[in-house]
Amino acid sequence: MCVTIALSPLTDSYRPWDYRTRTITLPETLPAEHRPRVVRAVLAELAVPQPESGALCWCGAAVELPRVPQQTRRTKVISHGA
Ligand SMILES: [Zn+2]
Repeated sequence: MCVTIALSPLTDSYRPWDYRTRTITLPETLPAEHRPRVVRAVLAELAVPQPESGALCWCGAAVELPRVPQQTRRTKVISHGA
């Protein structure tokens, strides 16, 4: 079973790592560009060797992060409000 990445609000019950569900939970307030680093840090804590960039599951597969910031240069995205 691969690692799962979840986003969650920072609450009293917030835990970055749940060994039962094998889920790394990131604070949803964490800027997207910092997410890979946090995931790597948690996985490194779990003794999973991490590459220079990105994050690897213990099976060796690349970990998919929710909404990884791809610096796609869309001039402007207007999707909020209205
Ligand atoms: Zn895996």
